[in-house]
Amino acid sequence: LSEQPLIGIDIGGTKIAVAAITSSGRILGCAQAPVCEQSSLAAFNDTLITLVRRALAEGGLPGEKPAAIGIGCTGPVDPAQGTVSNPYTLPLPMDSDITTPLRKAFDAPVLLENDAFAAALGEAWLGAARGRELAVCVTFGTGIGCGVVRAGRLQHGARGHFPEIGHQILDPTGPPCYCGASGCWESLASGTAIGQAGQRAAQGPGGEALLALAGGRAEAVDARLVFQAARSGDPVACHIVERAVRATAAGVHNLVHAFAPDAIVLGGGMMCHYDLFEPAARAAIARITIVPVDGLLIAPAELGANAGLYGAARLAALSLGN
Ligand SMILES: [Zn+2]
Repeated sequence: LSEQPLIGIDIGGTKIAVAAITSSGRILGCAQAPVCEQSSLAAFNDTLITLVRRALAEGGLPGEKPAAIGIGCTGPVDPAQGTVSNPYTLPLPMDSDITTPLRKAFDAPVLLENDAFAAALGEAWLGAARGRELAVCVTFGTGIGCGVVRAGRLQHGARGHFPEIGHQILDPTGPPCYCGASGCWESLASGTAIGQAGQRAAQGPGGEALLALAGGRAEAVDARLVFQAARSGDPVACHIVERAVRATAAGVHNLVHAFAPDAIVLGGGMMCHYDLFEPAARAAIARITIVPVDGLLIAPAELGANAGLYGAARLAALSLGN
């Protein structure tokens, strides 16, 4: 192997995953660590450097210099400054520089994007949206993130900002969201929203089955349990899931009208339940009359938990001009 490896780094709320990857998308070696172990920015950055070295060693390339390093990080991030401002999810202060130490340690370019954008780039490179002209990839997890990829390149807003399509308002009378709006997609269909609705329902009429699933502790109800209860036919859980499904169908309808894409990819941990979301999303697309939808792909993400890693590596590759 003569080419220098790319490094993809995926920083989420619970763990950091790193992979050494070839320019054709073959993973050579991986390493990961939990986020909670780090206690300061310096320790966090040391962990990133250590994980890159471990991924290279794992891939049989100890001491190799990476061609470039890409990071997909739970946002908000500032790609131009190489900083992240997410003290709620990461043990780091606002405006934490997580790129400069890596750049110095490996003498390689270091690129930063938010995690949903990185996952979208991964799906467009090697996953469900590969070969598509304009793909919108939505990631359903704790929140709802979204990335738009045109001809294999991420589309930002003005001045490099990230559009937040997960916060489009779908029901102005819906529940309040931390973003300041009410009834946005995330407040209706994210894992957090479904879990919170489940906790409320477990304490109300008809919530006995949900409550029992959670061992009698309403606060232990999460999205996973709500889906489990819904699949066994529990009406209260079905009602919560149906609300998320309706919101997602409306969200997909809006994405088609806003972007006229040729691919919409639904991913993230929650989309292990893609089968519950697909019929309503397809029905919403079938009703569209003023944007051509022939040839529009709607599909589940294919890369699973690795989408962000692949996307981060692709980000690194694109910075080199290939
Ligand atoms: Zn919101």
